Amino acid sequence: MATSIQRIGVLTSGGDAPGMNACVRAVVRSTIQRGGEAVGILSGFEGLIEGYFRPLAAHDVSNIIQRGGTILKSARCPRFHEAEWRRIARARLSEAGIDALVVVGGDGTFTGAKIFGEEHGFPIIGTPGTIDNDLFGTDFTIGYDTALNTALEAIDRIRDTADSHNRLFFIEVMGRDAGFIALNTGIAGGAEGILIPESKTDIDGLVRHLENGHITHSSSIVVVSEGDDEGGALEIAAKVKERFDKYDTRVTIIGHIQRGGSPTCADRVLATRLGVAAVEGLHQGKHGCMAGIQYRDVIYTPFEQAIKHHQAMNPGLLELAQTLSCYY
Ligand code: ATP
Repeated sequence: MATSIQRIGVLTSGGDAPGMNACVRAVVRSTIQRGGEAVGILSGFEGLIEGYFRPLAAHDVSNIIQRGGTILKSARCPRFHEAEWRRIARARLSEAGIDALVVVGGDGTFTGAKIFGEEHGFPIIGTPGTIDNDLFGTDFTIGYDTALNTALEAIDRIRDTADSHNRLFFIEVMGRDAGFIALNTGIAGGAEGILIPESKTDIDGLVRHLENGHITHSSSIVVVSEGDDEGGALEIAAKVKERFDKYDTRVTIIGHIQRGGSPTCADRVLATRLGVAAVEGLHQGKHGCMAGIQYRDVIYTPFEQAIKHHQAMNPGLLELAQTLSCYY
């Protein structure tokens, strides 16, 4: 079904992710290219409630494709959980003559968008902007590839110093509910241990493994996802030290460095394709869904499914990491 969508609002919400700017640029330019107008909404749902709107011309999004963060700013907005504030947000959109929205964010953003869209019959399409890669309906989320490479670079640097002193390092990477960053950077960084929320952590088994490393005087790296069931890197390091204290042990939490920086080529291309797909989808009458890419093609997945079903972790990858991390 074709629609008469003219003015499209775009916002970024939740945790920022490298590539959000590339996505905003694509939304703005493809909207204009179709003869419409683009409006930037500042600070996520907060800006929707407050009416922080700014018309965006094609040149307003020049020179941002390579920038991390988001020029539209992002925010957590507790007020959007309440129907009364969402009603005010709806009134703001009417006042500004905005016909449809593109929201760039993670599962929380899509939950808010779904509720709002259904409540007010308002067309919204989401694009997956989160470093966690935890959304169903896309092979990768915008920002994930950049975060992986940032974390990996940090792990490589730590490996150099760990090796010089035969130290044991616990390195914590982001991922409250999903271990994609830990698993992939752990494999790529040659970690001796990878601890992720998707699999039960066996501290005694890890200690036995690290004991072997100590015999051969190796340094060791254990990559810990922040959402691991045994705790973050600090807690896990303490638990290991209680059982085996021969290693000179250090903990590094990479933290927000993983969110910043210039997006990789893969993230820029993904963000650009998805921004264009979101606008195309709205013009085709689609709404209440996320634009994603699976097996090279754009697909639209209802918010409900994108949020609820986690992308499956490949169990073979963890096994592979364990096989290759033995000490000789
Ligand atoms: P990230 O994955 O990086 O954390 P996110 O989109 O999941 O990103 P959240 O902070 O969970 O980030 O959600 C962003 C915003 O979405 C919230 O601040 C809130 O405004 C809105 N939101 C989340 N859940 C709901 C809900 N149940 N009802 C209404 N709005 C919601």
